[in-house]
Amino acid sequence: KLRRLPESIAMLEDALKVFVLAESSHELRETYATMAAVYAEMGNWRAAYEHLAQTKQTSERLLQNQLDQRFATLKVEFDTVAKEKENTLLLRENEANQKALEHERRARALQRAVIALTAVLALMLASLAVHQWHTTRRMRRLAMTDELTGVPNRRAVLRRLEPLLLETKARCVLLIIDIDHFKQINDRYGHPEGDEALKLVAACLRREVVEPAFLGRLGGEEFVIVMPEAELARGRALAEHIRLQVMKIDTRRWLAERQLTVSIGATLSGANDTMSTLLQRADAALYEAKRTGRNCVIVRLAQDRSTEAS
Ligand code: GH3
Ligand code: MG
Ligand code: MG
Repeated sequence: KLRRLPESIAMLEDALKVFVLAESSHELRETYATMAAVYAEMGNWRAAYEHLAQTKQTSERLLQNQLDQRFATLKVEFDTVAKEKENTLLLRENEANQKALEHERRARALQRAVIALTAVLALMLASLAVHQWHTTRRMRRLAMTDELTGVPNRRAVLRRLEPLLLETKARCVLLIIDIDHFKQINDRYGHPEGDEALKLVAACLRREVVEPAFLGRLGGEEFVIVMPEAELARGRALAEHIRLQVMKIDTRRWLAERQLTVSIGATLSGANDTMSTLLQRADAALYEAKRTGRNCVIVRLAQDRSTEAS
């Protein structure tokens, strides 16, 4: 502006060196443009042209740099957004995985609870089944046992006797044992003492009866003994032995000097016998024993076996 043109060029050249070193494109462009104007003022058209070309070149480089910078910024921005999106997705995936894990953990806990409950239920059912089995057995035993004496009851004995009579080959001895004048015991000493006497006689019979023979209480003060596949002689011997053993029962604690005796009716099963005919015959023998004076054994046989009586 002061028209000191060559001096300006020298100073602008100095400035140019500094801007080149500093790679300061903006200032370079301004310097080249100013120099081009100064050279043009000076009429140095060639230098002016060259500096104008340098101005343009620098300007383009500056633009290119700006573009590159902008592109780099955009790229960073884009990459950041992409990363953020990726992070969000990863976070969501992580969240979903956590939820799935939680579900799985709950499902496993539920499964374990179900297994434990099933096991407890199975145990309860098993113990219930065992309890039921014991109860059934106890009930069956009770239904077949005489409560007072503990020996099998009438039902139990008849149930065992029935199939024996159906076997044609098998024959058996049947004894009916009846306590003599039992009513008097009740009347004189009391019902509990009568019960005690019944228990003592039952215990005595139990000691004498061995398998395969079996014993039961027919009712009241009557007992029955069945001896499968036995000869009459053996039956008669057992009856006699029992009669004597009953007489030996020590009753002094309950019945003072009163002695227990039994009358026994004995019989042998015949080919045509039913339970009823067999019991009737033994009963008839017992009746005869009572009539004869009690405390004795009487045998009565079916018609077809009468030769065995002797
Ligand atoms: P017999 O010599 O003719 O057989 O005379 P008995 O007195 O023994 O016969 P009876 O049939 O007249 O009387 C039987 C008695 O047995 C009558 C009844 O009260 C008694 N009795 C029946 N069952 C029981 C019982 O479980 N306990 C007691 N204490 N007495 C019973
Ligand atoms: Mg009787
Ligand atoms: Mg009697």
